[in-house]
Amino acid sequence: MSATATPSAVTSIAVNNPATGLPVGEVPVCSEPEVQEAVRRARAAQPRWAATPLRRRIEILSEFQKLLCEQRDQIAGVITREAGKPHAEALSTEILVVLDYVNYLAEAVPAFLRPESVRHTNPIMKLKSGKLFREAYGVIGVISPWNYPFSLPTTQALTALITGNAVVLKPSELTPWSSLEMQRLLRDAGLEKDLLQVVTGDGAVGASLLQSDIQKIVFTGSVATGRRVAQAAASRLLPVVLELGGKDPMIVLEDVSVDTASSAAVWGAFMNAGQTCLSVERCYVHESIYNDFLKACVEKTGRLRVGNGADDSSDIGPMIHQRQMKTVQEHVADAAARGARILCGGTALPRLGPGFYAPTVLADVTHSMRIMREETFGPVLPVRSFSTEDEAVALANDSEFGLSASIWTSDKARGEALARRIDAGTVMVNDLIACFGISEAPHGGVKASGIGRTHGRFGLEEMVWPKYVDSDRLPKMKKLWWYGYGPEFRKQMDGFIELLFSKKLRNRLHGGSKSTRSYLRRKLL
Ligand code: NAD
Repeated sequence: MSATATPSAVTSIAVNNPATGLPVGEVPVCSEPEVQEAVRRARAAQPRWAATPLRRRIEILSEFQKLLCEQRDQIAGVITREAGKPHAEALSTEILVVLDYVNYLAEAVPAFLRPESVRHTNPIMKLKSGKLFREAYGVIGVISPWNYPFSLPTTQALTALITGNAVVLKPSELTPWSSLEMQRLLRDAGLEKDLLQVVTGDGAVGASLLQSDIQKIVFTGSVATGRRVAQAAASRLLPVVLELGGKDPMIVLEDVSVDTASSAAVWGAFMNAGQTCLSVERCYVHESIYNDFLKACVEKTGRLRVGNGADDSSDIGPMIHQRQMKTVQEHVADAAARGARILCGGTALPRLGPGFYAPTVLADVTHSMRIMREETFGPVLPVRSFSTEDEAVALANDSEFGLSASIWTSDKARGEALARRIDAGTVMVNDLIACFGISEAPHGGVKASGIGRTHGRFGLEEMVWPKYVDSDRLPKMKKLWWYGYGPEFRKQMDGFIELLFSKKLRNRLHGGSKSTRSYLRRKLL
């Protein structure tokens, strides 16, 4: 067992519905030998899979897509039961995302995996031809959080699989059933069972996976765990992708429709009960519309219905865990104590259940408050005003995080120019969070928000390593830089460099003739 997490004493974990507290089911806590055995089987199966024609691999994914589409209601039900989010949100932010992602892979991967010829600029190398191949790593370990328990691990696992890898996945202990459903659908679609295996359990199981014979780890979760994962990976030089937390800013310029921007802020802060890595965690509004914007946000928040996600009339479900509740309460109390105004919400809703919290709008927040510096991950919209664009950019960049951001303006060029100044992996102009549903868009952050990307071409590149193969067109020819050194070789090289790089034509001609004469006088070994 690694030093990064202590072994579990328990052998199974009970998963409960965060809305009702009722049990969803129990899953085993896999032991370290079980994790190692899963990885061993995956490793044994992977070469066959990598040699399977891409057409067949795409067929399996396409069958998976068909089954997912047919069983969407049932799968969304599982997601809602264990994660608490409204059923319609499970359909839109989890299932729809995955269905589209399969289309993206089927379309993009054939060209992506096609060997790429590499042009040589150096004239001395023109007698060779180069090709770039993208090779599967082997077994990719995936460790997932609970907030998007289906779309996150599934898009990552499918990217790994389609590029020829096997996958061993450790889902969050709070939401393992969504991953088990994904595993079932892939097997029903014809995927050999060893190629995707779900190992359930807590952090210690994740730590075991990191010590097993995987060739890369794709981790999504908190910054604190991400650091531990990076340390464990560093000690064995395991390549990593880290998708970590966010503190995403929303900048609202004075030329917007207050109605549209306030609707965006309310949805961006409260959807999935604020438990989205791309949630609006900080909102900066131009001073000329600040009061109107706050008024609209409060009015719209008042219309939201908090309740069990299985009930179609609910807009906001429960938070997943009492840990989350405690963080939200602490951040709101700290903000209020330092002078923020609570315009609505600001309280738990225990009559609905232990995880429910009223959607909250805070005004006049400052960067001395925890709510503007640490990830809150709850249904809270903290708002403050700014007067100039420079101030808005400085505030947005004053954060250890850099996952995504949004800019709201009626002037697209102005929005895009500002976007270039924000330190974030993704900046959306006049929308937010939706970037995760754009399969072609790379997802990931800078600063403490992580390393590497998932989704899009950059996400595909993470699942392969580049192999460069170079063939000489004149195999019998001795290369002119081989042994046979001496004064003539020096002159040959000197002339050659002059020929290629001198800015004066006269010098280049001189270099060419010097180099050729020296080469002809040399005797190569
Ligand atoms: P977490 O870090 O507590 O857990 C994530 C996963 O890591 C879980 O499966 C957990 O069991 C496992 N784990 C815990 N300790 C481990 C260890 N020592 N070694 C290996 N694995 C270990 O995160 P969480 O609370 O499940 O998720 C919420 C966090 O995830 C938030 O910070 C959120 O911003 C972030 N997140 C980021 C993205 C993104 O794409 N950037 C997406 C979703 C969530």
